[in-house]
Amino acid sequence: MIYHQLALNVPLYSLLTYAHPTALPAGTRVAVRFRKRLVAAIVWESNVQPKIDINKILPIETILSEDWQLPADWRALLSFTARYYHYPLGQAVMAALPKGLRQPEAVPLPHQELMYTLSTSGRLQPPPPARFHKQHALWQCLQSAPVTLQQLKAKHTQATNYLNQWQQQGWVQAKPVPVCGSIPASPYQLNQQQQHASTLIQAKFGQFAPFLLYGITGSGKTEVYFDIMAKVLQQGRQVLFLLPEINLTPQLMQRVRQRFPSTVTVILHSQTAAGQRTSNYLQAALGQAALVIGTRLAVFTPMHNLGLIVVDEEHDYSFKQESELRYQARDLAVWRAQQINCPIVLGSATPSLESWYKAQQGAYQLLQLSERAHASAQLPQIHLLDIRRLPLDNGLSDVIKQKLQANFANGGLSMIYLNRRGFAPALFCTACGHIFGCPNCSAKMVLHQHAGQLRCHHCDFHQRIPHCCPECGNQDLTAVGQGTQRIEEYLQHLLPDARILRVDRDNTAHRHDWAAIYSKIMQRQIDILVGTQMLAKGHDFPHLNLVVVLNADNSLYSADFRAPERLFAELMQVSGRAGRANYKGEVWVQTRQPEHKVYQALSTQNYVTFATAELAERQELCMPPFSHMAAIRADAKTMREAQELLRQALQGIEQQQSLPTSVSTFGPVPMLMARLAGYERAQIFLESKNRRDLHHSITIWHSWLQHLEKIYPHTRWLIDVDPLEM
Ligand code: ADP
Ligand code: ZN
Repeated sequence: MIYHQLALNVPLYSLLTYAHPTALPAGTRVAVRFRKRLVAAIVWESNVQPKIDINKILPIETILSEDWQLPADWRALLSFTARYYHYPLGQAVMAALPKGLRQPEAVPLPHQELMYTLSTSGRLQPPPPARFHKQHALWQCLQSAPVTLQQLKAKHTQATNYLNQWQQQGWVQAKPVPVCGSIPASPYQLNQQQQHASTLIQAKFGQFAPFLLYGITGSGKTEVYFDIMAKVLQQGRQVLFLLPEINLTPQLMQRVRQRFPSTVTVILHSQTAAGQRTSNYLQAALGQAALVIGTRLAVFTPMHNLGLIVVDEEHDYSFKQESELRYQARDLAVWRAQQINCPIVLGSATPSLESWYKAQQGAYQLLQLSERAHASAQLPQIHLLDIRRLPLDNGLSDVIKQKLQANFANGGLSMIYLNRRGFAPALFCTACGHIFGCPNCSAKMVLHQHAGQLRCHHCDFHQRIPHCCPECGNQDLTAVGQGTQRIEEYLQHLLPDARILRVDRDNTAHRHDWAAIYSKIMQRQIDILVGTQMLAKGHDFPHLNLVVVLNADNSLYSADFRAPERLFAELMQVSGRAGRANYKGEVWVQTRQPEHKVYQALSTQNYVTFATAELAERQELCMPPFSHMAAIRADAKTMREAQELLRQALQGIEQQQSLPTSVSTFGPVPMLMARLAGYERAQIFLESKNRRDLHHSITIWHSWLQHLEKIYPHTRWLIDVDPLEM
């Protein structure tokens, strides 16, 4: 018997040993029994010395992938991921696989499509006589150009039969369809900065080289990506293109199809249907797809011959997964590029301070695009409107009202952007001041007037709008805070003839909702857009020329040290929506703190000013990127229980072991969002300038938590490395 170490979907930090008569190559998918259930597993190592009684070792039941293994670089990526994020390897491995490959069932490998031509010897053969209509027509078809089986089958009955016969005779040749067909030239001549960026990246093909492509919205970053992608694809290598879900728009896909019409491209995101995802995944792994476009989970796609990774909007929070395996796809992408020796391009108009700092340090090469690519596109003008002494009507000052009226009269498109924090309307009792909160979360319930409901935006809880206050019985309940609905109603009253469209979670739940909204806007059926974050990203409305930002100040009061960075990126992005193509745009920001560094940098649209000031502050406070952090979290039915586990672990560690001196510990403290879905959440932060020390202390914490979880069975814990949530 040969013993194998297998990765299974179990919460164990070590691998499990199973036996098989022959040695199976690492990366093979197999089915085994675990607690009587048949489950899928991946061979991690074979020919190992069993550490347990060999009579207790179970056999491998079936081999699910005889002809294909998960490649070595993929396994290395997963081993690193599990180690770095302190997560059970087997569970990390399963999280990185599409559902189809997580089942204990064999999956047929996708076939590469075949393309038929008459072979050279075939040309010597006389065509089938014209009286055999079908054969004659098929032959004619093959004579003109190589055609795929699918194309032939569509037009000719019995095509498969004849093709098989002719192939056996040697008259016809079948070759796999090239995964990267010819790539037409770009319709644009790259400008000097774009060309410079592209040349520098190309010089590093075939080696690890991280680039930070910093360019304002509309500066032509995407064209730079496309240019280098074309070069890599033409070399016969694959490209992995990662982007936030919200940016994976039909417009982007259309641009990709136009630029790479005959390149086999697959998409991987959370909404790809399970079967499709498995087949896309395998196509990438087998080298049958040349271009893989996807969201964070696509970073785990095995690739046959990867030559370039692009991470667009690298600052976006959606690259961090905030449940189960808490990984940062951008960071893993950089690790992956290093491991397989290929360049990686991180692009953004507002890079994360982590990446910006690395570029300042010289760890990443900085490439800059400082102007809008389109000659006619101008940067919008940004105005800060100090509202400290201005009367507001439903949140709007007179200046803004006039701007909106004038723009409507001139036939322009306006957008009201509501900062998402603290903007949702809550229901409040005018007599006793009671505010309706979610019974499960530390969040106010959000008033959805049209649906007649109060809803929690953090869990599923919802209820009908109550008639009276549960505290005092008063029936006079009013809404506080402005939601998108209220602004919409007010604007309709202000501009009765304007066509107003509210864009929020309620009307964009489905993919095609967005497509419909988009085409409505593009066909100029809308005058004013009202919405939150969703409006900030990904979509271009060339005729948008007035953007109004309301209540952004709320973010400045947040206890999260990343709040200013996040707000700045968000506002730059919204501002970037205005003034594309031939329209000059204006942005108006209502604020009570116009002197704040976020707004000052915004008004001059100067990311560098902001990043420099913010980094100086982070350095002083010794915050990331000047230190590394991890959060140890616990949640339980009560805050006391949640904190107790953390406190016990901390005490144990302090008494029995010494953590590296570079590591500081803060807490336990409640999380900013202390109560979520019925659980109270507490955390301890570990912080160190030295990553190795930090990881060493996480390991110590980890073993204490595993030990204590038996004593506190009702408290769940987790480790979040490089946390974004506070
Ligand atoms: P970004 O990705 O930085 O937002 P895009 O690549 O989408 O910018 O470019 C913005 C607009 O400018 C697009 O409409 C694009 O087609 C156009 N564009 C990009 N590069 C050029 C160029 N070199 N010449 C002319 N137009 C360009
Ligand atoms: Zn809730």
